[in-house]
Amino acid sequence: MPSNILESYEPLKCRVCGADLLAANRERSGIIVFEKDLKSKDVDKFVQCYAVCKGDCDETAKLHFVSKENVTYWEDLDDLQIPYYFLKEVIAVINGLHSGKTIYDNNCLEELKSILVRISQNTLRDQTKEELNRLKSLVALPDWL
Ligand SMILES: [Zn+2]
Repeated sequence: MPSNILESYEPLKCRVCGADLLAANRERSGIIVFEKDLKSKDVDKFVQCYAVCKGDCDETAKLHFVSKENVTYWEDLDDLQIPYYFLKEVIAVINGLHSGKTIYDNNCLEELKSILVRISQNTLRDQTKEELNRLKSLVALPDWL
């Protein structure tokens, strides 16, 4: 049962077949794939990331979407739904950006954030009624406060 982090449930769709990789009754496990630009020698530069089913969909996506000159890394979506491991991943992204050793193309970072937000539905607890009410006033505050 996903938590009420988002106003309504957002599936994490496989880039190839569209299956929801977070569904409790899913038939196949998924992964997040990161494509690393091998031309960037001094930093780890990621040019795209996406979610796919393990196996056939992963192979299809690599063939069609990933440059032959680059390499891919992956993270297991079942592992990322373990709360500690999810937090570790978020902290690792922050540390990588802070150190300057990791950079993401804009689209890649947006996609990664979108994937992490969707995964959070299965890793964070439900917000109480009081918290949801408090959130209404928090998000109504301007950013500069
Ligand atoms: Zn798939």
